Amino acid sequence: MMTGQEYIESLKQLKRPVYYRGRIIEDVVEHPAFRPHINAAAVTYDLAHDPEQGSLATTTSHLTGQPISRFTHIHHSAQDLVTKVKLMRTLGRQTGTCFQRCVGFDGLNAVYGVTFEMDQKEGTNYHQRFLEYLKYIQAHDLMVDGAMTDPKGDRSRSPGQQADPDFYLHVVERRADGIVVQGAKAQQTGAINSHEVLVMPTAAMDPADADYAVSFAVPANTPGLTFIFGRQANDTRREEGEIDQGNAQFGIMGGEALIVFDNVFVPWERVFMCGEYGYTGLLVERFASYHRQNYGGCKTGVADVLVGAAYTAAQYQGTERAAHIRDKLTEMVHLAETLYACSIACSAEGRPTPSGQYFVDPLLANTAKLNTTRFIYEIARLVHDIAGGLIATLPSEQDLRHPEIGPYVAKYFQGVAEVPMEHRFRICRLIENMTANTALVESMHGAGSPQAQRIMILRQANLEEKKALATRLAGIPNTQEKP
Ligand code: SF4
Ligand code: FE
Repeated sequence: MMTGQEYIESLKQLKRPVYYRGRIIEDVVEHPAFRPHINAAAVTYDLAHDPEQGSLATTTSHLTGQPISRFTHIHHSAQDLVTKVKLMRTLGRQTGTCFQRCVGFDGLNAVYGVTFEMDQKEGTNYHQRFLEYLKYIQAHDLMVDGAMTDPKGDRSRSPGQQADPDFYLHVVERRADGIVVQGAKAQQTGAINSHEVLVMPTAAMDPADADYAVSFAVPANTPGLTFIFGRQANDTRREEGEIDQGNAQFGIMGGEALIVFDNVFVPWERVFMCGEYGYTGLLVERFASYHRQNYGGCKTGVADVLVGAAYTAAQYQGTERAAHIRDKLTEMVHLAETLYACSIACSAEGRPTPSGQYFVDPLLANTAKLNTTRFIYEIARLVHDIAGGLIATLPSEQDLRHPEIGPYVAKYFQGVAEVPMEHRFRICRLIENMTANTALVESMHGAGSPQAQRIMILRQANLEEKKALATRLAGIPNTQEKP
């Protein structure tokens, strides 16, 4: 298994067109816009070598019996699913941000189970191909970008009815040696610092959209791929200095990119679905539920940092003993632990799929993610309330360091006498950046927008069974009657 430093070195070999703010970036590893995200992903590698917590991040391959990173593992018990959540909370606590590697982890698990079931029913041989791919990923400890989201164009139209057929990624040519694909995957977390891109369809497809029912994997430096990196709140601060970034080492959230596929060739041995539209819904449901499981892990870790930041800010300004501050801190902890409880629950209730791989309880996993779309905003609101308007209005680090006005900044933003002003400045900047719009919007739309969770929740809710519970108690004999 690679160390964090070896992972960073491995990215230097990965040459491909990456664009940011209108320029092509030759060396993403040394560029300040990308480096914090790379550092955060590197922690997933370093944790595997940690003498105390390494067991969370490592396990044994069920394919080869070799030690592997958990991020390349296929879940084979409910305990595996629980450990995943604990791993993510641990990493969220260490980085205070998104460490990105879970998207590929979930993609590998989703494709594993669905290819098995597809082969069983359709007589295809996708699973065997996928096992070879998985062994390669495990052996080389690679980071995989699980790429599901298509640009989607006009949401009221199906893939084949779009004004431009490329709004959904699709097969444009089938050859003896492989397929050629065209389209894009939008806003892919960790795309710039992943070795591989594992593509999955974005929605359940109809027979008319069979060309869009495609899953495959390509190395990130495959010809025809172009990466266009997204902006983030305060991103130009990375080129200015350290303190104003808040979390200079690990940055804000995942670092998303649009990946354009322009006539990309994929050899058959890397194709895991090609035209089997009937399995697209299953693949989306598996990936989405595995990914929604995570949010009570990683976001709870991030919330732990925010609770700590709110408490520290209160101490630095002398308000930490006020009853309303303690009440707000209590509320923050309660919200964070509720998120965690949901993710642990969907994992503990995990069940085996036909391949023997374990799948989370989808109702509870979707509930975990839907809670995140609200609770992280509420946690941010509470930390803003506790820390005060300073977090959004402080002068710059340059002013703090200025030989003439710096002493004014230090004097008039001083809190309690025992704490250096710069410490207060730093904690305010951490809160500002951790609750800036990029971080919050990720909690809303990462792993799918809230409506996607509501649809899955209602689908899983079994209203008829609940109706029977009520009608039995109410003494209504015919539970089948309908208006
Ligand atoms: Fe992983 Fe997504 Fe959480 Fe980022 S936001 S740490 S990719 S689960
Ligand atoms: Fe995400």
